Amino acid sequence: ETKRRLRREGRATVGAPLLVDNADLTVKTLGPCRIDSPLLPLLGERPTTQHYIDESDKVLYDDTASMILERRVELSELPGFEPAGPRRKIYFDPSKTRVGIVTCGGLCPGLNNVIRGLVLELTSHYRVRRIFGFRNGYQGFIARYGHDVIDLTPDSVANIDDDGGTILGSSRGQQDPGEIVDCLSRMNINILFVIGGDGTLRGAREISRVATERGEKIAVVGIPKTIDNDIPYIDQSFGFQTAFGKAAESIRVAHAEATSAPGGLGVVRLMGRHSGFIACYATLAKSNADVVLIPELPFKLEGEGGLLAYLRRRIVEGGHAVVVVAEGAGQELITDQPEGADASGNRRLHDVGQELSRRIKDHFDAEGVEMNLKYIDPSYLIRSVPANPYDSVYTIRLAHAAVHAAMSGRTEMVVGRWRRRFIHIPIGLAVSERNQVDPAGDLWMSVLEATGQPPRFE
Ligand code: ATP
Ligand code: MG
Repeated sequence: ETKRRLRREGRATVGAPLLVDNADLTVKTLGPCRIDSPLLPLLGERPTTQHYIDESDKVLYDDTASMILERRVELSELPGFEPAGPRRKIYFDPSKTRVGIVTCGGLCPGLNNVIRGLVLELTSHYRVRRIFGFRNGYQGFIARYGHDVIDLTPDSVANIDDDGGTILGSSRGQQDPGEIVDCLSRMNINILFVIGGDGTLRGAREISRVATERGEKIAVVGIPKTIDNDIPYIDQSFGFQTAFGKAAESIRVAHAEATSAPGGLGVVRLMGRHSGFIACYATLAKSNADVVLIPELPFKLEGEGGLLAYLRRRIVEGGHAVVVVAEGAGQELITDQPEGADASGNRRLHDVGQELSRRIKDHFDAEGVEMNLKYIDPSYLIRSVPANPYDSVYTIRLAHAAVHAAMSGRTEMVVGRWRRRFIHIPIGLAVSERNQVDPAGDLWMSVLEATGQPPRFE
């Protein structure tokens, strides 16, 4: 409660020291690990602790001396994440382990890479023999949808990373966790890997809870997917780098359009429902945007300090302008459209790009200033492309970490990367809040420096 209050009052942001302690970071396990890891031969004659994770080790949460000093605790009590990686002793007997994999929510670059990474690690290193792919998200577990399950083998996943999307399909919409656990027990599945966003992870937590209530030993391990990079306690989510790289191309296009017409104005709408990371990074990657608008910072259109007057000045003085707007920005400006929700209950966003374009046109018309507006919305071009080399590396390493975690009986957790180390995060913590651009932080400062826009339009 104290933590929530501090955050609400803006006195602490995600990742602030002292707000996270070891109790928050503890990961659940199904039981003691008694089986020798079959990875032993892979790692040579004399595997060292560099190869195997010491179960008592942790990845420190704090990373500056001042954060550590502020805690005023013994070194051994400093909070830390469980490090990801192979354990010398594991929980499941690989030859008898049956695994399920499911992808839910929106598309994101790297989904197929994760599926492939899981299957290859499970089969070649742990020698797990049965891996089932469930179709179309959580629907795949529910009999009445009649979706088939796919046998996943090294052959069947060999080149799936060449394409974007997910070979398993995805879906939205609530499914009963009880029915999902029924299906898992009917199929004798021991490990379930879920690849999905905040909604999916909440679902995964329910599945894990129901399984625990029923005394079923099922490990539920998530690989968090968010193209918006809005999951906390993770340096960067997979697919994010691919996404903002692709998004930067749209800014380049908008700039070319804007500079090629009298009074040219390019408006680019990018992803980012609650967090403006894609807009910020894409802008920094291709720094010819003049204004970036993100959900974290409300802005005013009218008045001397408003966006419209600023754009007019830019066009009159410089001849052209480019505006990058994250899809969740400026929602408060649109009051004349009905509210709606998708099948999973997520609020439908109004199209801020269209609305902004309309208001900008009206303004220039009223002021009698010539302006040529080009509106660019690349959304599907961004989320459905294959992962770039960086994200391909990242996804395969996340997949390896997820397999090691699950084989050692961890459950109700996701894998992530914190200060460049792979770690385990309890699902509860991963969905407890959102990672957002800090308007007082150094990322936003860089954006302001790159665009030259005022800190606020007010
Ligand atoms: P994205 O943010 O990319 O859309 P997501 O995982 O959040 O990904 P959703 O459509 O919100 O996508 O949810 C995916 C699945 O998780 C759906 O089947 C949905 O019913 C289920 N789900 C969402 N929220 C919850 C919740 N609070 N409890 C249980 N299940 C949930
Ligand atoms: Mg979501």
